[in-house]
Amino acid sequence: MKTREVLLAARPTGAPRPADFRLVDVEVPEPKPGEILVRNIYMSVDPYMRGRMNEKQTYAQAWQIGQPADGRAVGEVMKSQNPRFPVGAIVASNLGWREHYVCNGEGVLTIDRALAPLSAFLGVLGVPGFTGWYGLKEIGRPKSGETLVVSGAAGATGSLVVQIGKILGCRVVGTAGTDDKCAWLTKQLGADAAINYRKAGDLAAAVREACPKGVDAYYENVGGAILDAVLAIVNPFARIALCGMISQYNMSTPPPGPANIRNMVGNRVLMQGFIISDHMNRYPEFLAEVGGWLNAGRVKYEETIIDGLDRAVTAFLGLFAGDNTGKMIVRLGPEPAAAGAR
Ligand code: NAP
Repeated sequence: MKTREVLLAARPTGAPRPADFRLVDVEVPEPKPGEILVRNIYMSVDPYMRGRMNEKQTYAQAWQIGQPADGRAVGEVMKSQNPRFPVGAIVASNLGWREHYVCNGEGVLTIDRALAPLSAFLGVLGVPGFTGWYGLKEIGRPKSGETLVVSGAAGATGSLVVQIGKILGCRVVGTAGTDDKCAWLTKQLGADAAINYRKAGDLAAAVREACPKGVDAYYENVGGAILDAVLAIVNPFARIALCGMISQYNMSTPPPGPANIRNMVGNRVLMQGFIISDHMNRYPEFLAEVGGWLNAGRVKYEETIIDGLDRAVTAFLGLFAGDNTGKMIVRLGPEPAAAGAR
């Protein structure tokens, strides 16, 4: 049987291009004892994958030229020689960017379909949601009545952080790149204010106006001018969760430092970076809490779904142009009927 997968073809300088990837046909082997054959249904494209295209290894392993890319995916077990994963089981793995795979089940998790639609396990109940939940609760630690600012607020991670901030009783201010995303944040997700950073003009003035009592907690997805605008008005003992800085991922020269960083000293501000894979032991707690909020209607999520492995690169590049609201997902095939419907 043949399948298709996406390889890294070249390492980009600056913004990645479609030619940096190659779609190829490959043979899928028959599963041997202990192995499973999985058909991927959805795969995730994520900003951190830009770092994996570079030669230098960061916290995630660099992709190798001529080798398949990888990342989170949800699929259906089609053949099984492994009793842990019966045929028909829905599983999450790190073997995205391909339509099928054979593996021995290491790193593969069975998904409970009753909890949420399958694609949600790549977004609100997957790594982005888990990252937002962990970073906000453990590092941002916002208290009721405080002001929380979230950059990249209409993305997969940011949109959950905004809603948790509201559940915890904060004044929440989000930044995003279009008026439609800002309207979604205030009208649907309950943000108290949203700033379109592309149109704001004087971003520092816009953040100051939206945060009349200063900033107590900041959830950082973007970096650069937004971080500087927040640092200008941080309150004493503010906490800053450094989740990501997508505005810098495609830069080929280092960005200028934030001018307001000295405010962290006088105001005794905690700014802490974190990598979610260090905290996987907290995933069940996250799933119980956010899964409960989702089922109770206290948390909403949005997805931008692109069809076909041949458009996976377009979906990935779209992350850097803001083409997604909520989670960017690539659909590789149809969902099987739910167990009860068979
Ligand atoms: P996402 O927010 O769903 O998608 C990326 C969004 O970033 C785009 O929709 C775009 O929205 C915004 N963006 C792109 N280029 C930008 C620029 N130059 N300036 C400002 N905004 C820009 O992606 P995500 O998966 O939830 O990731 C969000 C952040 O969390 C990223 O920085 C990612 O690296 C980080 N992250 C970190 C960890 C960890 O373990 N620390 C884990 C997961 C994710 P706009 O329309 O608003 O521009």
